[in-house]
Amino acid sequence: MKTKTIAFNTLGCKLNFSETAAISRRFQDGQFREVGFHEVADIYVINSCTVTQNAEKRCRELIRKAMKTNPEAHVAVIGCYSQISPAGLAAIPGVALVLGNTEKYQLFDRLKELAYKPAQDNIVDVSDNTSEAFIPTYSTGERTRSFFKIQDGCDYKCAYCIIPKARGKSRSNTIAATLATAAEIAETSIKEMVLTGVNIGDFGKPQGETFHQLLKELAAMEKPERIRLSSVEPDLLTEEIIRLVAKEERLMPHFHIPLQSGSDSILRAMGRRYNTRLFADRVETIRKHIPHACIAADVIVGYPGETEELFRESLSFLSGMDVSYVHVFSYSERAQTRAADLTDKIHPKVIKDRAKTLQQLSDKKKQAFAEANKGLTTKVLWEKDRTGDHMSGFTENYIRVKTKYNENKVNTIEEVVLNITGKNGVYLV
Ligand code: SF4
Repeated sequence: MKTKTIAFNTLGCKLNFSETAAISRRFQDGQFREVGFHEVADIYVINSCTVTQNAEKRCRELIRKAMKTNPEAHVAVIGCYSQISPAGLAAIPGVALVLGNTEKYQLFDRLKELAYKPAQDNIVDVSDNTSEAFIPTYSTGERTRSFFKIQDGCDYKCAYCIIPKARGKSRSNTIAATLATAAEIAETSIKEMVLTGVNIGDFGKPQGETFHQLLKELAAMEKPERIRLSSVEPDLLTEEIIRLVAKEERLMPHFHIPLQSGSDSILRAMGRRYNTRLFADRVETIRKHIPHACIAADVIVGYPGETEELFRESLSFLSGMDVSYVHVFSYSERAQTRAADLTDKIHPKVIKDRAKTLQQLSDKKKQAFAEANKGLTTKVLWEKDRTGDHMSGFTENYIRVKTKYNENKVNTIEEVVLNITGKNGVYLV
């Protein structure tokens, strides 16, 4: 049989990249040859995202782009957007396969079925999201770091969020099974694994185990050298987890905490499970145990009901917080969420202005964080991407460092002293 060419494109979060990596490995059996998404392919696969309107728009653009590159191709759209809007996607010319978040792991077999179907017929297979099954995945060769999926779904019901509908209830494997998968990653050349999921702090709930217990076990393994946490909900980021990160060298001093707003009234309206006092307490506890830790906070601007006064309150709270930078998100209304029914919506122009103001604050904090680390001796994991004559990598506390490109340094960990600051908080060594 003629080898078919296949191209993958992933939108959205680290979890999606982890899953695409696992799904695409199934196609390395000689029957398929993977090509770039900009190249002519027989099959284009998009692992989609539905967290914002832009993410969905980007998916539709990629479908059109694929069909322009090869009008004879089959396009398969899998993942979160497919889970939420299967019919809409199936109606787009060129879309031959639409698979939900449970069915996406059967992509290889479902693509085979297409061969026996009339060209105009497509396959739509999206079940409701009640699956208890947890499919562990991890990425390898594509990057220096591995995105290791340890948890999926979410039981929280934040008013603006479509993810519980797209990914179902919170679930994970047992610690023993998770360690077995981690051991597979340890067999590869990967130096850093990033623990990924939707609500990783909720790990182990179905089995009566905890995220803290998992971290202790992972920290006791020898490889890979580094373990980095992706975002952990403030109410799930306990002092014992912070102390463990402070104690264990292989756990990176980097915390990504979704704050979402610095105004308690907005947090209540969003249905978040903490207030600004708790968030401030978490920051103080981290600074007490790990003074040079990187603390990144997610914040949404323009949530319905966010008056100028409440935005100012949020901004002033953040200005007073010792965080390293802020991930700024503009509120994006999602159908099927409680927030979509709210009437006091904020004008897009105002949302844009607020996002700019908050980004300026974040840039200042990032520069200040970089300056505060001047003279620090730390370790950098060099990545393979080359920009001109340079290569870069991240320190343990997530500061980007650049140096002259040297192939022998790719995927190695090197001790450096942070002395020369470049732009945007990047150091040069
Ligand atoms: S914690 Fe809230 S914002 Fe995060 S995935 Fe769950 S419902 Fe969405």
